[in-house]
Amino acid sequence: MTIDLHCHTTASDGALAPSVLLERALANGVTQLAITDHDTLAGYDLLGSQDKLTLIPGIELSTRWRKIGVHIVGLNVDPANPVLRQGIERQLEAREKRARKIANRLTKLGIDDPLPAVREIANNGNIGRPHFAQHLVDIGLVKDQRQAFRKYLGAGKAGDIRESWADFEDVIGWINHADGIAVLAHPAHYNLTMTKLRELLRDFTAAGGRAIEVVSGRQEPQVGRRMAGLADEFDLLASVGSDFHKPGLAWAELGRCAALPDGCRPVWKAWQ
Ligand code: AMP
Ligand code: MN
Ligand code: MN
Ligand code: MN
Repeated sequence: MTIDLHCHTTASDGALAPSVLLERALANGVTQLAITDHDTLAGYDLLGSQDKLTLIPGIELSTRWRKIGVHIVGLNVDPANPVLRQGIERQLEAREKRARKIANRLTKLGIDDPLPAVREIANNGNIGRPHFAQHLVDIGLVKDQRQAFRKYLGAGKAGDIRESWADFEDVIGWINHADGIAVLAHPAHYNLTMTKLRELLRDFTAAGGRAIEVVSGRQEPQVGRRMAGLADEFDLLASVGSDFHKPGLAWAELGRCAALPDGCRPVWKAWQ
């Protein structure tokens, strides 16, 4: 059994179209997959029902907690749920507005309006900062996406616009309305102290969050153990996801994640 409950397609900032991603999942032996594009279910909608593997309807929603951008994965949601659909509409509008703001800010730094090229790179998928990063690489301003984030798009830089997203509690509410399970995505990626991470988890569980990504991509075993400890402490289910975006990144290949540490309660038991 190979389970991957976090990955991206061209519907957001992933490189592979949903059908190509599905083929890759099958080639990698994945038996249960959740496509969790940023703020959209379009990838899942495109694939529809198929019998090659168990496809769990999923989404990764952008939120803010205090002043920090925090991602919440919704798993096994009802894709037709009107509350969730409305929430997604709101996020897509916010994303579009944010894209224009980022473009304006970059223009003020002397860069030619990037938006037309960025739209093309996003290819009708929703626009994210990685698409801006790709454009900045394309025009030769930076050598790679990492540098684009470090100089222009990452925390505290021109393209870092955080007020766009719905509140943390609202997003968890949409997922629960859609009978899904709200999962705190990649908890080790927010650069929080354990004290702050516990505060986040207290708020998360109080708002109805039910699971945490104990395994996210290829991580050090001690990180998984620490997250498993938090899952136990806050009585949370444990999830596993590669956060795959594109081929060639060994640390986030589809379906290539460590097993959950002993003692975790796997999130997939909730729908099996
Ligand atoms: P957005 O959804 O527009 O806020 O963009 C967030 C996405 O940017 C994440 O899901 C990652 O795919 C990507 N990302 C974030 N930080 C970096 C970074 N330092 N280098 C490259 N990609 C990044
Ligand atoms: Mn992404
Ligand atoms: Mn994320
Ligand atoms: Mn992700």
